[in-house]
Amino acid sequence: MTEMTPGKLARELGIDKQAMFKSLSDCGIPRVRMGAHLTDAQEATLRRFWKSRRRPESRSIPVRATMPLKTPATPPTRDWPRTCPCCQRRWVHRGGEDVATTVCIECEGHRSLNGEDDARRLARAESHAALYWRDRAVAHEQFRALHGERQQAYRKRAKWRAALVEVVLDHDEEEGTEGLCWCGQAYPCRTWRRLEEANKGIHRQVERWSSWNSDQLADFLYDEDGRDDEPSGQGA
Ligand SMILES: [Zn+2]
Ligand SMILES: [Zn+2]
Ligand SMILES: [Zn+2]
Repeated sequence: MTEMTPGKLARELGIDKQAMFKSLSDCGIPRVRMGAHLTDAQEATLRRFWKSRRRPESRSIPVRATMPLKTPATPPTRDWPRTCPCCQRRWVHRGGEDVATTVCIECEGHRSLNGEDDARRLARAESHAALYWRDRAVAHEQFRALHGERQQAYRKRAKWRAALVEVVLDHDEEEGTEGLCWCGQAYPCRTWRRLEEANKGIHRQVERWSSWNSDQLADFLYDEDGRDDEPSGQGA
């Protein structure tokens, strides 16, 4: 059996030698050299002392709390596209992992079984028919809502377009001025040039509209729908 010394104990416990030396007097052990032999009782006292000292210390350093977790406790959630093998309808499963493909919640009660009777097959067919009707109604409602939004967007755009066209077409060659816009600049004036700089495509369109007669243009610009369909026989 090897004899224990304060130096060996410090090494074993991973304690600074200076701290171990100081702890000797805390434990009522006369300060001895680090290489001096300790009695079993002294060794036990020192071990108890350092055990009681270390516990609160190790608690006071919340290493785990300060270190980023290497692997997240729960996998990140994502969308898993699923198709029901019974009704073929699709849905999205949101979760950490893709669970094994099962029938959708609507089909749980009527899924196909081995040796099933006609009544079960009929019940399944009727249930699917009801689901498809319901889906159809939902799709129709969504279409209506989106169509409404689109019409509203067209109308908004038409208002901006009409305002822009009114302003630009107003800058026209004044009769009897030999190529001058009413604003005093050579035609096409700065308003037209500025539009061309800003957007060549819109400039081209406004140029085309400038050749329409005012009734046709008003019909087009202030059409309720605000769509792009130009009157037949117009445009390039
Ligand atoms: Zn289903
Ligand atoms: Zn089904
Ligand atoms: Zn002008």
